[in-house]
Amino acid sequence: MDKGLLIVLSGPSGVGKGTVCSVLREKMPDLVYSVSATTRTPRQGEIDGVNYFFKSREQFQDMIARDALLEHAEYVGNYYGTPRDFVERTLASGKDVILEIEVQGALKVKEKFPEGVFVFLMPPSLDELKQRITGRGTETQDTINHRMTVAVEEINLLGHYDYAVVNDEIDAACHRIQSIIVAEHCRGDRY
Ligand code: 5GP
Repeated sequence: MDKGLLIVLSGPSGVGKGTVCSVLREKMPDLVYSVSATTRTPRQGEIDGVNYFFKSREQFQDMIARDALLEHAEYVGNYYGTPRDFVERTLASGKDVILEIEVQGALKVKEKFPEGVFVFLMPPSLDELKQRITGRGTETQDTINHRMTVAVEEINLLGHYDYAVVNDEIDAACHRIQSIIVAEHCRGDRY
C-alpha cells in the first residue's frame, strides 16, 4: 500500500491556519489531522485531546526525552510538538495527514520528511495580520507585539516551502490547498 501524504500547513500566528485547517477537514473528510501537544493554557472552548493535548512542562519534557515527538518548538514562551507515533502510523496506513504548525517546527519536519508537502499560508498584508491577532481578543499587547515580530521573521523563511497560499478568503484558500493536495497525488514520481 502507498504511504499517505504528509501535508504541513504553516505560517504566522493569526494568519488563519486553524480555520483553514478545520474547513479543509470538512471538505476532505479522509484527511487526518494531527493533534499537537502544548504547554500553553487552554483558551475558552478548547478541549483536551481535540484542539491540543494540554501538558505541563514536566510532561512535555518527558515526551521529548522519550523521543515521542516528531518535532517540537518553543513559541512565544510555550512548547508545542507533534506526537510522532500517530503521524507515522497514519501515513503507513495510506492516509494523508495534515500538521498545522509554526515555522521552526515545519523546517524540522522537512529535514525528516523531505517528501512532505510544505504549504505556507500568507496574510494578505501585515496590517491585516495584526488586526486578526488583535481581533481574537485573547492576547495581551505584549503578546501581540511579540507575535508580530515572530511573524515577520517567519515570512522571511517562505523560500523553504513548496507552496505559498494567500489567505485572503477562507474558501478560496482552502480550494487552492485542495488543488495542491490533488496535484501532489498525481505526481509522476509517486508511481
Ligand atoms: P496557538 O497558541 O495560537 O494555538 O499556536 C501558536 C502557534 O503554534 C501556531 O502557529 C500553531 O500553528 C503552532 N503550533 C501548533 N501546534 C504545533 C506543533 O505541534 N508544533 C509546532 N512547531 N508548532 C505548533
